[in-house]
Formats: sequence, C-alpha cells, structure tokens
Amino acid sequence: MQPSSIIEFVQETYQTEAFIPLHAPSFNGNEKAYVADTLDSTFVSSVGRYVDDFEQKIEAFTGCAKAVATVNGTAALQTALYMAGIQRGDLVITQALTFVATCNVLYHMGAAPIFVDVSPISLGLCPKAVEAYLTEYAQLTDEGCIHKHTGQRIKAVMPMHTFGHPVELDELVAVCQKWQLVLVEDAAESLGSYYKSRHTGTVGMLGALSFNGNKIITSGGGGMVLCRSEELGAHTKHVTTTAKVPHPYEFYHDEPGFNHRMPNLNAALGCAQMERLDSILANKRTLAHQYQAFFAGSGWQFVAEPDYARSNYWLNAVICPSQEARDQLLSETNAAGVMTRPVWQLMHRLPMFEKAMRGPLPYSEHLESHLVNLPSSPVIKLA
Ligand SMILES: *Cc1c(COP(=O)(O)O)cnc(C)c1O
Repeated sequence: MQPSSIIEFVQETYQTEAFIPLHAPSFNGNEKAYVADTLDSTFVSSVGRYVDDFEQKIEAFTGCAKAVATVNGTAALQTALYMAGIQRGDLVITQALTFVATCNVLYHMGAAPIFVDVSPISLGLCPKAVEAYLTEYAQLTDEGCIHKHTGQRIKAVMPMHTFGHPVELDELVAVCQKWQLVLVEDAAESLGSYYKSRHTGTVGMLGALSFNGNKIITSGGGGMVLCRSEELGAHTKHVTTTAKVPHPYEFYHDEPGFNHRMPNLNAALGCAQMERLDSILANKRTLAHQYQAFFAGSGWQFVAEPDYARSNYWLNAVICPSQEARDQLLSETNAAGVMTRPVWQLMHRLPMFEKAMRGPLPYSEHLESHLVNLPSSPVIKLA
C-alpha cells in the first residue's frame, strides 16, 4: 500500500483537500450558551453550578462513586496518586509507551517510574510483563512490596489506556492483589471506553480523565479524578480545594492541599460537550470501522479494540510493515496536509527518565518505530 492511497482515503472520508488535523474539537451544541451563562452570572471561577453538574454527569456516565473535577488531566493524575498514598521515594510501575504527563507527576511527587512493556493485545501495560518484573526484582515484606536492589517501596501500578483501548484489567488487578499494590488508572484518553462492562478508570482505586482540547471531549483544559467510594471522593475533593476545613471565617487547612479545582467557565463547556458524547462516540466508531475495512488484508495492521473491550477509538492507529514504510507515510501525509504522528518517544529516552529502572521493552520499541496515528476527528457527514 502506498501513502498516496492512504491520503486519498482520508481526504475522501473527510470530504476535503484542505488541512486535516489529528483531532479537532467541535462545538455545535449548547457550548456557547453555557459558557455565556457563566459570564452573565459572573460565576466564572471556583464557585458555580456547572462544576457540580459536570461531576454528576461523569458519575452517571462512568458509574464511579464520586468524580472530582480538576484544572487538567495532569492535576487529576497527581491528585489520584496523592490519594493512593504515593510518597517521596516510592516506585510506581507504568509503561514507557505513554504521554509524558504520566511520568512527570511521579517526578514532581519525588517518586519514580519503573517502565514495563506494553501488551500487543491492548498497547497498554502488559500484566505478564508486570508479573515477570516483580518476580525478578520485588519481595513482599511486612512493609509491603519492596524493590530487592534499592529497598524502595513499590507502591502502585499505573496503566494507561493507550489511544482509548482498555488494558487487561482483570489480570492487572490480580497482580496488584498478589503483590499488595494499588491500581491507579491513567484514563486520560479513554472516556467512553469500557473494559468488559466497566468504564475505564473505575476499576482501580482511582482513575484520571483529561478534557484537554485534543481529547474526545474538551472543557478547554480540565480533568476528573474517578474515585471508587464516596468517602474517598469527599476526601479527594477536600484535597483539590486546599484542604480547607469548613468554617464561617477561620482559615484552617488540615493537610497539604492542592488548588486543582476546575473553574466554572471550563465546566460549562464540559457540560455542553457531555450532552454530545454519545453521538461523538458513535461517529468515531463508524470512522474506526472504515479505517479497519480500508486496511484489511493490506499488511498494514489497523489497531482494533481488544475482544474484551469497547473502545472510544480516541486516536486511530496503524502499525506499518516496516520503519521505512512508517517514515514514508509520515513525511508524505504531513506534506499533503493530512496530519499524522508517530507514537511518543519512549519515556526512558527522555533526559529526566533515562535512569529509571525498567524491564525489557521489545513491543514498546516495535510500536515506537512502526506505529502511526491517523486523523480521528468526528466526521461531519457521519453526524
Ligand atoms: C492528555 C493526557 C494526560 C494529561 O492531560 P492534560 O489534561 O493535558 O493535563 C495524561 N496522560 C495521558 C496518557 C494523556 O494522553
């Protein structure tokens, strides 16, 4: 297959020869009305009804006990890790194939990642690779799971649902139980994705969503912490809002809190986008099926949802037959105004994580040199 036929297919699908972005937001519902409402009311900041509304909409949609809105997905992740008990010096097992935010939050908490390979089934953290790493390097003690070489505590496992495809959660839960580790899901890319019947981000103790402009729906900037119980949710909300103890006039804060709350202005946009989420998901599913049919039998492997999952198909992806084919596809599509991107460079290649501990990463490396993300915005004519 030549890049030219892929370009033709994408231009045909989007019915344009103008620039086609990787993922663009669309605002054709109540977005303007709700945002204007916050301006009219003057409640644009940390107080206002849209924040509560947005949290309730996410709770209803995902089935989590309590959702807590934050300024962005990175803040949601940091909050989730703090609530999971991650402390300075701790180690957290995650994937080298992820967006840098997953690891940056660990860095800023004084914790460190351990990189383990991803699974060919999900492109996310591989339960077998996690188990193999722990068997070789960890031991269970009275203090929990300890790294044999450094004596540091291994506290949590943080899988990321790559491009919206759910990881193998039952198997990861079993590994976490065996090794006494907390499961925290980076579900930034997977709003609308289900593992079996459960929404991603609700299986672990905590999960984090992102509503950045390039995600499946956006609030301009924003995130949400998904909490497994109401008590945990109430405590999480407290921590994101400076941990102030309610009082008519005294300022008393009972732990080191964050100011991570989402402004009402952003929540208004998020509420309007939530009203359209089902139709956006249906549209993107149709688009993914079109890509899948286009690549079928070509030797170019379209990344389809795992058998156990229903994916939101946030970013469509194809695994090219060779690195040369990948390079040619990237250069010709981008020159033609069809935006494509390779996957992120693996985390251990970045200067701040090059010394991080890691297991073997053969499949992550294969994806790094062969995978290309394809334009994935909802298609107007499918709406
Ligand atoms: C987008 C993203 C984040 C961070 O979300 P922001 O809202 O941009 O801070 C974290 N992890 C992953 C995997 C992401 O894709």
